[in-house]
Amino acid sequence: MIHSKNTNLSEALEVGPWASDHARKSNDVHSAPGSAPRVKPAPVGRPPKPKPAKDTRQIGTEKATLVMLVRNSELKDALGSMKQIEDRFNRHYQYPWTFLNDEPFTEEFKNHTTRMASGTTEYGLIPKEQWSMPDWISEDKFQEVISRMSQAKVIYGDSRTYRHMCRYNSGFFFRDKLLAKYDWYWRVEPSIGFYCDMNYDPFTFMRENKKRYSFVIALPEYLPTVETLWKTTQEFAKLHPEHIARDNSLGFIATDPDKGIQETDYNLCHFWSNFEIADLNFWRGEAYGKYFEFLDKKGGFYYERWGDAPVHSIAAALLLPKDQIHFFGDVGYKHVPWGRCPLDNESHDTARCMCPFDRKESFDHNEWSCQNRWNKFHGLPENPIYE
Ligand code: GDP
Ligand code: MN
Repeated sequence: MIHSKNTNLSEALEVGPWASDHARKSNDVHSAPGSAPRVKPAPVGRPPKPKPAKDTRQIGTEKATLVMLVRNSELKDALGSMKQIEDRFNRHYQYPWTFLNDEPFTEEFKNHTTRMASGTTEYGLIPKEQWSMPDWISEDKFQEVISRMSQAKVIYGDSRTYRHMCRYNSGFFFRDKLLAKYDWYWRVEPSIGFYCDMNYDPFTFMRENKKRYSFVIALPEYLPTVETLWKTTQEFAKLHPEHIARDNSLGFIATDPDKGIQETDYNLCHFWSNFEIADLNFWRGEAYGKYFEFLDKKGGFYYERWGDAPVHSIAAALLLPKDQIHFFGDVGYKHVPWGRCPLDNESHDTARCMCPFDRKESFDHNEWSCQNRWNKFHGLPENPIYE
């Protein structure tokens, strides 16, 4: 990829390995001095015969898609994420990609992402009512919130669109008509790092092992963004005890789990939702539907800045039995600013991991990580450190 500041994206994309036929053909091909001039020179660097058309038919056997909510301006970063997931997993399975956006995707975005995908691609435009403030939110009150949060320098505290995004990821993406045909999704964001081969189908793994939600990194949420999220969750649990799973993960998210939902506080631990492999039907089900609606009516997506990560996490922790949440410990992954790599030797021996940091530096070992809390909750040993 070209990193020159003066090179615009289209130009950059025309010279990389993904260069279009047009760009390749227009490159001069020079013959060696003295050799016979070639009439139709073959393009440099690839076999002279045209490749057969790409066969995008799905190979994996699950009703599943890779899904990315993304802006047109993030094309280059989206391609970077796609390339890694394709090379390390999806080229063997050819699951389709679904791209979602609050604005129409450009032809440029569609062309480049379709070329990068091994499977088919679809592009969805988010309906306006799923990407705007609902009518029960007061604009005046919202203005007060954003001026207060921006003064307090709360990250994304002054952003309206970030709130639309969090609410959309919390309550709507799984209802998109493009996703209706799927049971499973893998959420991918632009600019991620994906450092090890995935040598099996994680969707099949999830289904066969009765898993419904999964994560790779868990960390505490920033309190000013979720001041009343736990209190609101407690109200929901009181109204709908029938939706709280008996064998839930309160022990992972509560400061005093033994006191029960109504008496304990939230310890702010959540699964980082920029990576998710999960069951769409969990979000579509009655329990989560009621929970989201309850939260939405309370207004905290706008009056605070409730993230989809803590919302998904609290829901998965309380509405699912704990054995239905899976930690993908064999995944090497980064989303700024945190990354992790598998801690065990076996993953490194079998999955060609290329981590840009030593595994001792994995976020799992960071004092901010909630991983050891998870381990303890599941009766597992502390994170091992290999020399
Ligand atoms: P962060 O990970 O919390 O720092 O937030 P991001 O900026 O990465 O946003 C999370 C996801 O939502 C990413 O996949 C973004 O591409 C996407 N996203 C955020 N804001 C918008 C937006 O206004 N429009 C669209 N289409 N996607 C957005
Ligand atoms: Mn992000």
